[in-house]
Amino acid sequence: MLDFRFNGEILCMGSINMDLVMVMEHLPVPGETIVTDNFSTYPGGKGGNQAVTAAVQGSKVTMLSKLGGDSFSEQLIEAMRARGVDTSRILRDREKTAGIAIIRVDRKGQNSISFTPGSNAFLTPEDVLENSDLFAPGKILLLTMEISLETIYAALRLAAKRGMFVIVDPAPAPSTPFPADIPQLIDIVKPNESEASALTGIEVRDEKSAEEAAKQLKEMGFKLPVVTLGEAGVIAWVDGSLLKIPPVKVECVDTTAAGDVFSGTLASALSLGRGLEEALEIANCAGALSTTVAGAQTSIPDREEVERLFEKRV
Ligand code: ADP
Repeated sequence: MLDFRFNGEILCMGSINMDLVMVMEHLPVPGETIVTDNFSTYPGGKGGNQAVTAAVQGSKVTMLSKLGGDSFSEQLIEAMRARGVDTSRILRDREKTAGIAIIRVDRKGQNSISFTPGSNAFLTPEDVLENSDLFAPGKILLLTMEISLETIYAALRLAAKRGMFVIVDPAPAPSTPFPADIPQLIDIVKPNESEASALTGIEVRDEKSAEEAAKQLKEMGFKLPVVTLGEAGVIAWVDGSLLKIPPVKVECVDTTAAGDVFSGTLASALSLGRGLEEALEIANCAGALSTTVAGAQTSIPDREEVERLFEKRV
């Protein structure tokens, strides 16, 4: 099914952000100051979440991205390094800050978010070329979209030239269609429901419409479309037929980063030699487990926990 010799290594590209979260009685109106004693910082960003997940699941992961000169950037690098990611290719633009999300949450759980991509937006196609030694056969390129599209295209073209296996998590879905040569450079594309809708123009709301969207993605040139459906599980279009992975029943408390944990685990399982169907099942287990714990990088399950759940299901 998959004609590729994986070597256990993953090159991860995407955003790294710090989430600054305050929980308060109600959200402030213009001019109002609200006092709260509830403030936390959480390392996040889709690229960071996926890199940490893949490292925790046992792969050798290098992150290629850009951070700033602020103290959040230092903390973010340290958080990733501490969990096993090779951070030596996280570039720095000392004039910029890290990507920052300021999140206010009220007592009813409603939120208001301000976001700046900061240094993430300044990772360039030249940066990709200057680090082209990272693009090597046997490795997986795992890519998300919260960085410049030109940089993404440069990375995809280089990865294809070097014979890498490419997984793209198209989140958030790009506002302009992919250039004509791009879809066929991507081995696995893994949208969730809303990203699948944006990419195909088919409104995905149930399994039937997800199947249509997966078929459409295949026709657009993506080799292996995988659509995640939240609590409804996963569908994939593999070798001309549809594969359905049923959901795992869990006590869900917070779905933040479920998609990132799914993608990071899928990449890791493949890189470590698991078959495609098995890797999808394992990622489905990891995604489900991540929803039982609050937060993004805090909710990444460890490898043993994922394997235990997987073994129970087969
Ligand atoms: P995203 O976070 O990108 O929106 P999804 O919500 O589709 O991604 O979740 C990704 C995967 O995580 C799902 O396909 C599933 O495997 C798992 N998952 C997410 N939410 C749940 C849930 N409530 N129960 C069980 N598994 C879940």
